Amino acid sequence: RQNERESLLIILEYAKDFFKKQLIESPEGKSIAIPYFKERGFSDSTLQTFDLGYSPESWDIFYKTAIKHGFSQEIIEKAGLVTQKNEEGKVYDRFRNRVIFPIHSVAGKVIAFGARILKSDTKNQAKYLNSPETEVYHKSATLYGISQAKNEIRAKDICYLVEGYTDVISLHQAGIKNVVASSGTSLTVEQIRLIGRFTQHVTVLYDGDSAGIKAALRGMDLILEEGLQVNLVVFPEGQDPDSFVRKVGYEAFLEYIKSESKDIISFQANLFLKEAGDDPFKRAELIKEMVQSISKIPDAIQRSLFVQKTASLMRLDEDVLLAELNKIHLKNL
Ligand code: ATP
Ligand code: MN
Ligand code: MN
Ligand code: MN
Repeated sequence: RQNERESLLIILEYAKDFFKKQLIESPEGKSIAIPYFKERGFSDSTLQTFDLGYSPESWDIFYKTAIKHGFSQEIIEKAGLVTQKNEEGKVYDRFRNRVIFPIHSVAGKVIAFGARILKSDTKNQAKYLNSPETEVYHKSATLYGISQAKNEIRAKDICYLVEGYTDVISLHQAGIKNVVASSGTSLTVEQIRLIGRFTQHVTVLYDGDSAGIKAALRGMDLILEEGLQVNLVVFPEGQDPDSFVRKVGYEAFLEYIKSESKDIISFQANLFLKEAGDDPFKRAELIKEMVQSISKIPDAIQRSLFVQKTASLMRLDEDVLLAELNKIHLKNL
């Protein structure tokens, strides 16, 4: 078992070097992939920091090269680097004609890959393709960028949580290095505990679309439950941290985060009060949701401060909220 983990890490390291070499040496690497990264504004040192690469348009160039180098078909398959397409058992490279984002462990070892198509207008292909779960890659316990971010998260005592690979990379390049990505899946308890090893403060920076906002709210409840402090920043419609930081630059980006950062109660109040208007039924529903969020906070003092805040925001008696909170606690006993 231990041996297999070691072997997997070795072939994943080898694959990372292969994709990096293809980026700078293959014809398509030079003519398509490098220009793609340049167009996204990535500098040479950013390409290095994140080990970015390119997988050529070929059915099995990686597979054949790895076999020639002495790796067994079994280990190449176990690493998730190939897929089997037909009954004859012929294997194909999993990643073909994509730019490659290696995913590192906390310790900085390559454990998986994310791979993006070069053109966004290709409708019949998934934009991103990821390694499958393996002996060394458990998606739900992984945060993209954690190895590059961990020291800065500890130093700044706050972690920015974004959705995507390119959000991490652009913010890092802009000088904001305490940032990791959940990579599109809904946030898990394991990911939150990983952040909790370095800081108790999280600011969620999710995309300014309704999917992003819903995912952010779910994530925040979970973060509260784990006892961490969490705020949320929502970007203007259609923007994500990557596009926004490239548009406005470092100073304005941090300024925006500072002024738009909201705790979950203020955020929910803001978001739904407009919808609910004066309708007492809708307002009641909203208040119950806010109390649900508050009930997740393990710390009694924090809970009580959030109750006060909700009461004043919603112009309600605190006792009513406390009664509602007790109901939830009784249910959960
Ligand atoms: P880009 O700027 O390159 O278009 P993005 O990071 O803004 O990428 P989003 O659509 O916002 O892309 O998705 C956020 C993250 O979700 C991605 O970085 C990726 O980790 C994951 N993701 C998106 N689409 C897919 C997909 N089709 N399959 C698997 N993961 C995906
Ligand atoms: Mn999105
Ligand atoms: Mn993007
Ligand atoms: Mn995005």
